[in-house]
Amino acid sequence: MEITELKCPCCGADIPNVDGMDGIRFCLFCGTKLSLDYGAQEVHIVDEAKLAEIQLQNKLMDEKQAAKHEYIRNRRSWNIITTLIYIICFSLIAYGFYDVDVNDEMIGIVFFLFPAIMLLILPPVLAFKHPIPPKDFDELKAPKRGAVIALLYFISFVTFWFAVFLPVAIVEG
Ligand SMILES: [Zn+2]
Repeated sequence: MEITELKCPCCGADIPNVDGMDGIRFCLFCGTKLSLDYGAQEVHIVDEAKLAEIQLQNKLMDEKQAAKHEYIRNRRSWNIITTLIYIICFSLIAYGFYDVDVNDEMIGIVFFLFPAIMLLILPPVLAFKHPIPPKDFDELKAPKRGAVIALLYFISFVTFWFAVFLPVAIVEG
């Protein structure tokens, strides 16, 4: 029989090979009851309750991971959609303002007014749509809804200001 070291599947500790004999042993570190098979290089957990506990822990860990990944994915989508909405609002306001300035046509007001109203309405709506992280999400702090609204109003203001300032700067050279 080949003398080899086996590892406890529970805690990963080496199981000291005292006699190279197969059989039932207890892990010296975590106390798990193990069935050793040196020939097949296998260690089985004998204790069914312990095994069920480990499987449950693994399952919970997997679910936690999945919830985290979903939150990260949703937050990325939220960022992209929010950015796109602001780019569209900026473009429409800038175009509308430019149109009113240059062509003196009232149609520009429509381009300008609708996204301007959107910039006022959007912050609470978008903040409400912001994904909520899982309860035990310890890696990143969950943003406060009020802080998201405040940030979005600031972005709205900056967007509006630049959208108005840009055509004026272009027209007046
Ligand atoms: Zn162990």
